[in-house]
Amino acid sequence: MIWDVHAHLNDPRLAGELEAVLARARAAGVERIVNIGFDGDSSAASVALAEKYDFIYAAVGVHPHDAAGAGPQTWDRLRDLARHPKVLAWGEIGLDYYRDLSPRDIQRRVFTEQIEMADEAGLPIVIHDRDAHGDVLAVVCERPPAHGGVFHSYSGSWEMAREVLRLGFYLSFSGPITYRNARQALEVLAKAPADRLLLETDCPYLPPEPHRGKRNEPAYAALTAAKMAELRNVSLEEISRITTENVYRVFTRLQPGETDAGMDSGIKPE
Ligand SMILES: [Zn+2]
Repeated sequence: MIWDVHAHLNDPRLAGELEAVLARARAAGVERIVNIGFDGDSSAASVALAEKYDFIYAAVGVHPHDAAGAGPQTWDRLRDLARHPKVLAWGEIGLDYYRDLSPRDIQRRVFTEQIEMADEAGLPIVIHDRDAHGDVLAVVCERPPAHGGVFHSYSGSWEMAREVLRLGFYLSFSGPITYRNARQALEVLAKAPADRLLLETDCPYLPPEPHRGKRNEPAYAALTAAKMAELRNVSLEEISRITTENVYRVFTRLQPGETDAGMDSGIKPE
């Protein structure tokens, strides 16, 4: 069983044929998906999707692109959504200095504020870091999240990874580890401890080879898993097992032994 810990299934490119997308995911062994919000509306949509499908979970938060547009109403809404039992994390949050769609000082303030909200909600965070490695590290050092978190689609150096791991974070890898120019990510993947690795697609973005340049979907997490297995010289089964164990360690709202029936029933089978 593979967990895709970072998907955007509400994106129109996937939502239009969601049943087929989900069927292909399950056929490829990608049996659990964490669907990620990026603002108030997408976070609410993410929780709604998690209510509809027992194998889909949600994260709620405001992406750095949308930081400037978030206000008190957004935060009230997210705090409310975060109480839902299928919300596993607060995210995605962080800094994006590549597109700079919100002013950088606002991105930093909103990132820090959301770490505080995640702490209050009892949730780990999901970090988006694009071309902002130094400042992301500065924020999480100054205001470490109480419940840890995940660096999603990790793209930094091994030196940064060492710091991130020392701070207790998990590293999640996506399609780019299959690209020919993935030298830096491969170094991190080779050196990082097994008990901090996670798999994701970030679909519809970042498709692995041979789908580079096209639309990504959760089924392709199996291709990234196969590449991770090859790089670490272990079987695909072993990568699936390790990354699933890590999912339960970082997303502590999940109950071990949870069944497809979801988390609502408190009745445990004999
Ligand atoms: Zn994302």
